[in-house]
Amino acid sequence: MKKWQLKKLEQLRELKKDKEMKTDIAEVLLDEQTIQNKVMELGKKISEDYKDKNPVMVCILKGGVIFLTDLIKNISIPLELDFMSLSSYGDTTKSSGVVKIKKDIDVDITGRHVIIIEDIVDSGLTLKYINEYFKRHKPASVKICALLDKPEAHKTDIYIDYKGFKVGNEFVVGYGLDYAQKYRNLPYIGILKKEIYS
Ligand code: 5GP
Repeated sequence: MKKWQLKKLEQLRELKKDKEMKTDIAEVLLDEQTIQNKVMELGKKISEDYKDKNPVMVCILKGGVIFLTDLIKNISIPLELDFMSLSSYGDTTKSSGVVKIKKDIDVDITGRHVIIIEDIVDSGLTLKYINEYFKRHKPASVKICALLDKPEAHKTDIYIDYKGFKVGNEFVVGYGLDYAQKYRNLPYIGILKKEIYS
């Protein structure tokens, strides 16, 4: 098969994959361009605020990873990356706030400026836990950057320093966010049909 034919086949496969997943989406909430514009805006703001601070950006796996990779391409200052992975107990579509660290950070954050990169804040309990955990290491500062926020779902007082969009209480997927490990690779964010997870 010729190179162009292989490319076409690959494009058709991608289209089929997107179509398959699209049927599970009740509504596209944020399209690709809207997300990219916001990510650019957040990157610019972080670049201004952290000039000469060499921040450590800690991405919460796995949901935050797409957001992180797009975001750092829009940050013009030196920075360091690290990753943290947590497991939450209980319901698959709701966080219990009882978390276990599966992968801790490798960087010593003592005296450093830390920015936590999270996909979505729901109850806020996960971030509260991470924030308190980090503060024990005596960083210079800890700020939160979250692409999405569900303000009506907060169960704790949480301040999001860099926020992308406010959303309602629906369960959303795409752009890193999953349901049962699916949908992370959608370039947009959509509301998952209730019948998929109930
Ligand atoms: P919290 O501790 O704030 O209640 O939960 C935060 C985590 O729950 C997020 O990092 C994400 O993994 C998951 N989560 C909360 N709401 C949603 C949602 O609407 N969709 C998806 N895919 N995950 C969510």
